[in-house]
Amino acid sequence: MSTAAWAEQAASTILERCDRLAELTSLNNGIERTYLSPQMAQAYDLTGTWMRQAGLATHIDPAGNLVGRVEGIKPGLPALILGSHLDSVPDAGKYDGILGVVTAISVAEHLIDSGITATLPFAIEVVGFGDEEGARFGATLLGSYALAGRWKNEWLDLADKNGVTMRDAFTEFGLDPQHVAEAAHSLEDSIGYLEFHIEQGPILEQRNRALSSVTSIAAASRYMVTINGLSCHIATPYNLRHDALTAAADIIAGIDRISLEAGTRANVGEISAEPGGVNVIAGKATFSLDVRAGTDELRDETFDRIWAMADQVCTQRGVTMEKICIHTASGTQCDPFLRSCIEDGIETSEDKDAFGLISYPGHDGMAVAELLPIAMLYVRCKGGISHSPLESVREDDVACGTQAFAQAVLNIARKNCSNDKQNTMNAADTATPVTTTTAA
Ligand SMILES: [Zn+2]
Repeated sequence: MSTAAWAEQAASTILERCDRLAELTSLNNGIERTYLSPQMAQAYDLTGTWMRQAGLATHIDPAGNLVGRVEGIKPGLPALILGSHLDSVPDAGKYDGILGVVTAISVAEHLIDSGITATLPFAIEVVGFGDEEGARFGATLLGSYALAGRWKNEWLDLADKNGVTMRDAFTEFGLDPQHVAEAAHSLEDSIGYLEFHIEQGPILEQRNRALSSVTSIAAASRYMVTINGLSCHIATPYNLRHDALTAAADIIAGIDRISLEAGTRANVGEISAEPGGVNVIAGKATFSLDVRAGTDELRDETFDRIWAMADQVCTQRGVTMEKICIHTASGTQCDPFLRSCIEDGIETSEDKDAFGLISYPGHDGMAVAELLPIAMLYVRCKGGISHSPLESVREDDVACGTQAFAQAVLNIARKNCSNDKQNTMNAADTATPVTTTTAA
């Protein structure tokens, strides 16, 4: 069977499996599957069965991630990890995260069936992370942080909306909360991480393209901003007002303008005004601000411009501003070598002409990148819609992406990343091919 024919068949299985997993939900109407929940245990049973059918040896790691492994040319070699997440947001779609896990299983199955894994200079591990979205305990990327060796035991004290602590949830799931950190991988047992994911944005659709690589996962910072003015009667003349809400409005309009000019993405999604009377000038306005940028530097420069603009508005309107940073994450650069393997994979698929996109959503790769080189393959989703039941992908796009993803794994082997991974990951040119596998 040609690779394209295999990928077509695989895409149909992959989408069927996404449908099956969508049935494992805690909602009567809609999809929700959270970390360490009974629905996640069911998802692991089903996905684990598919993994074993594919020829992978499975286990659930101490952090509650599902892992399937196939050895390379000899047992015990460091692994190339193919992963994404099996948890969801509330009222989710079928594909965010899930598509990446089931696609990785199909790719592994194909490489096993073709006899290729037995020639590879690395093992392959397919990982379904238990938590990426943070929907149950608030903290995000728990599964991938544990794999990267960045687990914090203080997270065990976090509780869900029913008051169940993560510590108790681990015990109920059949895992020992004292041993979560043992899920950690190391540079001795792993060589890199690839993730297949829906774009969760509209750029591929706009460009009429099925696939792209990811250049970086955006740097992000979030603030709560409070504007303090003076509440008074609507009768107050304009030159005597200290209107916190109109100042906030000016600042929000300025944020949009600055972010657009800077090529970043900003959002003010929450705002409140006090005291909140139709005939009372607002004395206080509070709003959220989330800014994402391709690099930490660009994010920080954008914030500098935003705060300078906001200070000017505050002076003009006779109000003051307080700001509290509630979240900050550095940008994650995808590894040039792994990215080139993905882009070469795209070149051999129907989609051709590979290009890279910045990922503004966060992904497991951000956490894994604290240990390993990472790269991602994006596939188009309808309207760019995600975190919604309306999430949708085209079967021909999934076929194209599956073919490119399988080829990416082969490209890594061909460029011999296992024997001298340090050299290979940092400078693909110095690597010498060890296998000439061409079956895919
Ligand atoms: Zn995701």
